[in-house]
Amino acid sequence: MPLFSETTCKKCHTRLRISENEMSITGGKEKESARCPKCNNIVDEAMTNGFWEVTQIYD
Ligand SMILES: [Zn+2]
Repeated sequence: MPLFSETTCKKCHTRLRISENEMSITGGKEKESARCPKCNNIVDEAMTNGFWEVTQIYD
């Protein structure tokens, strides 16, 4: 299962790739927000062991 997904920001319509970065330390799952790097809009919210890394996709 790949630890990334692609989405489009609903606010500025930038194509984004969301990667999950898992941390090796066990800290329990927390709900983390993935934010658009361009306009700071929340594009996804999910439980993760680590944090979301959001990068812009350039064609
Ligand atoms: Zn945006």
